[in-house]
Order: sequence, then structure tokens, then C-alpha cells
Amino acid sequence: MNNAKKELLKYIPKDSIKFKPEILNKFSQDRAIIEPYGKPIALVMPKSKEEIFPIIKIANKFKVPIVTRGAGTGLTGAANAINGCILLSLHRLNKILSIDISNRMIFVQPGVINSVIKKAVEKKRLFYPPDPASYDISSIGGNVATNAGGLCCVKYGVTRDYVVGLEVILGSGEIINTGRKTIKNTTGLDFTGLFIGSEGTLGIITEISLKLLPIPPNPATAIAYFDNLPSSGEAILEIFNKGFNPSLMEIIDQLSLLQVEKVYKMSLDTNASCVILMQTNGNNAFNDIKKMLDICKKYGAFNTKHVNSLIDGEKLFEIRRKVWPAFEKLGKSMLPEDVAVPRQHLAKLLKGIIDIGKKFNIEIPTMGHAGDGNLHPLFVFDKNNIQEVEKVRKAFVEIIKLSLKLGGTIAGEHGIGTLKKDFIKYELDDIYLRKMRQIKKVFDPNNILNPGKKF
Ligand SMILES: Cc1cc2nc3c(=O)[nH]c(=O)nc-3n(C[C@H](O)[C@H](O)[C@H](O)COP(=O)(O)OP(=O)(O)OC[C@H]3O[C@@H](n4cnc5c(N)ncnc54)[C@H](O)[C@@H]3O)c2cc1C
Repeated sequence: MNNAKKELLKYIPKDSIKFKPEILNKFSQDRAIIEPYGKPIALVMPKSKEEIFPIIKIANKFKVPIVTRGAGTGLTGAANAINGCILLSLHRLNKILSIDISNRMIFVQPGVINSVIKKAVEKKRLFYPPDPASYDISSIGGNVATNAGGLCCVKYGVTRDYVVGLEVILGSGEIINTGRKTIKNTTGLDFTGLFIGSEGTLGIITEISLKLLPIPPNPATAIAYFDNLPSSGEAILEIFNKGFNPSLMEIIDQLSLLQVEKVYKMSLDTNASCVILMQTNGNNAFNDIKKMLDICKKYGAFNTKHVNSLIDGEKLFEIRRKVWPAFEKLGKSMLPEDVAVPRQHLAKLLKGIIDIGKKFNIEIPTMGHAGDGNLHPLFVFDKNNIQEVEKVRKAFVEIIKLSLKLGGTIAGEHGIGTLKKDFIKYELDDIYLRKMRQIKKVFDPNNILNPGKKF
């Protein structure tokens, strides 16, 4: 048994540590199924932050990497095990610590599942907006560490917009608190922002304070089918140019519609090139949705419908929520891309993805957060077929390059992990990358935290 393992056994309670290869294997990979993963020396599942300090000490002493893990739903390999690492799964740190109704805040441990937070605050008539499609399975610690987005970001913003403070154990073994329990705070440099989206490379987040909003009023919801992609892009742009503020705006392409219809028989119009689903809330919700549909019709939407009840709206959005499960039914491997462009280039991005599919002779169904210019082309393939994986990787890179050409980003909301690490240099210049490495050294001097991920 190696020395680091021996020390772990000395300092970590028995029920918090596992060595069995079959258990370790279960925790060694996230959902980026084509990304490599290594063999950890141990899995530690602390019940309290106090159990984390000795792990950091041991990791520094023996220069062993620590890979922190939330729920393992990431899509970039960011939580994948590194050879010889300690896997640190925070799923047992899953308590809601308190809800402060007066200041509209909630204080939680990192292992709490996103939807558990949503439900807990709803009971107090409060609202935690960020809603990654994985909200039933992903942890809030993972959401913060990836700066997760979701469906309602178009109006309400991403995870970053709701984090008011963090407790973080650094790679150096020190613990810091960023932010305060007040609504405003201008003391000190903004370290909170640095840890959001840092993918476990700067510190281990052990407590999170989140801002809450009052529950929004009931929404109005609409659907518009288009027979060509550029027109849908024009309609979306005009909706924003005219000052409308949708609370949801999603796009689903024909390939996705076909698969959803095949599996769930929802009477969808599968002749359409794409469909836009949109929602508004607030005092003018019902008038606004009608006006937004008028814009869609002006750009050729041939089949439109709007509904005013929450339940009917949910039914329409079921189409979007069923895309992933519909493709899962094929029993193949799935990997979504995640690129974002300025809204005016959305249609070009959609068209370009179709062309890339043709070039590599693969179908790339695409859906995404149209209102954010953020698309998820979905690769459905056989991960054991080397040629297929090779094609997917090549098409993946072409989509990244297309996004950059259109003034976009290589990672809208899923992060970088290992999947996109090689491409970060196309988006960030040498100075930026150097400063990031310098900052990492400040918080994690021995480079023990998720080394080789993100940058
Ligand atoms: C079906 C499906 C739908 C999805 N939809 C969306 C979506 O709509 N929007 C979106 O943004 N993402 C989406 N995702 C991706 C994924 O759910 C998010 O990235 C999520 O935030 C990851 O959370 P997790 O708890 O699973 O983190 P993990 O995958 O366990 O970890 C992700 C990263 O965070 C780090 N980390 C985790 N916890 C901590 C901590 N406490 N301290 C420090 N670092 C930590 C890990 O080291 C790793 O780098 C989806 C995934 C799936 C499978």
C-alpha cells in the first residue's frame, strides 16, 4: 500500500473512504463518455468539511492530485479521475443550512441537488432561477464550479448571477469565506467570481450562499414552427431588437423533432426545419407572447400556438425536455456540444452545423437556448467504434471553430474540462492564460487540485 493511502487510513474515518476498484470505477468518470479517465488510489466521501483538511495535507505532502466531484453529470471530463488521484466526492455534504427570507438568500452545502433547492425555496414563495436541464441530478457545488446555465438564463442569468458568497478550502489547506451575508458588499477583491466556473482547480467549495427572487408571475407560452432556419434566426433577433424580454426561448431542429415524435407521439409537425418555444412572464406576458408570435409569422412561421395556463405551457416545453430522453432510447452514446454566438449569428451557426454534419456524413440533431445564442448539437454514436468516435471528434472541432469565426465562444455553459482544453488557446490569448496559471499558484501552490483540467 502506498504512503498516501496509509495516511488517509490513519486520518479519515473508515465509513468515509473506499478502495475497492469497482466502487472507485463508478466515481471515476463524468458524462463526457469519450474522455479518458485514470485510476484513483482512493475515493473519499467526507461527511463534514473537517474531514477534508487532512486530505489536503496528505495530498500536498505526497504530491497526490485531488479531483473534486459533485454528482458527476458534467459533460467535459472535468470530474474524471486522474491516475493516482484521490477522488473527493462531496455528495454527502448535502444539507440546506438555512433560508433567510428577509434577505432572500439560501445557505447550502455543495452536495445539495439543484431541484432540492428549488423546491425548498418555493415553499417560502421564493425562486432560485438557474435551471440546467440536469437540475434533478446535478449538485449545486458542480453548478457553481461549472457556472451552469439552463433554460431560463435568457431572462434570469446563469449560476454566477446568484452566488453571493462561498466558503472554500484552498489547495494550500487554508479556508476562506468570500462574500457576506448582506445584499451588498464592496469589501475586498471579488474572489467569489474567481471560483465560479473554476472546475475544481482553485479550491474545494464547502458552502454556498445564493441569492433568491420572489416567485415570478404565471407565464404565457408559445410555439412557432418554421420551414427554414435563417428565418427563425431573423425572428429571434427581431424579438430582442423590439425590446421583448422572454423568460425562455428554446430552439429544436427537425432531426430532434423527428426523434421526439417517433418515441413520444406528441403530434409534432415534423415537416418543419425547426421550432421555437418561448415564454414570457410579468404584467404584459399575454400581450407580449402574441406580439412575439406576430414577429415569428412575419418571418414565415407557418404553424403557431399560444397558451396562457402554466400547465399548458409546461406541456409545450415537454417537447424540449423530451429531446435528450428520446435520443437515449436509441441506446447509443451521447455527447452534446456547447457553443454560443451573438444572437445575430444564430441562424448561421445552425446552418453551419448542418453543413458540418453533411461533410462528415453524420446526423447532428441540434437544440439549444436560442435566446442566449447557445446551441447544443448532439452527437449520437457508438463509443466502441473508433472510426465513429474519430468522426465525432473532428466534427466537434469544426463546430468549435465555426463558433469562434462567428464571434462566439467554445463553451457556453458546460465548461472546458479535458474535452475542450486544447481549444482554450483559440479563445484566450497568452497573457490571459499566463495570468490564470499565476492565480492558480496563489490558491493551489503545489498544483494538487484537478491538475491538467481546464487550462
Ligand atoms: C442530461 C444532462 C443535461 C444537462 N444540462 C445542462 C444544462 O442545461 N446547462 C448546463 O450548464 N449544464 C448541463 N449539464 C451538465 C452538468 O449537469 C453541469 O455541468 C453541472 O453543473 C455539473 O454538476 P455536477 O454536480 O454533476 O458536477 P460534476 O460533474 O461532479 O463536476 C463538475 C466540475 O465541478 C467541479 N466541482 C464539483 N463540485 C465541486 C465543489 N464542491 N468544489 C469545487 N469544485 C467542484 C468538479 O471538479 C468538476 O470540475 C447537463 C448534463 C446532463 C447529463
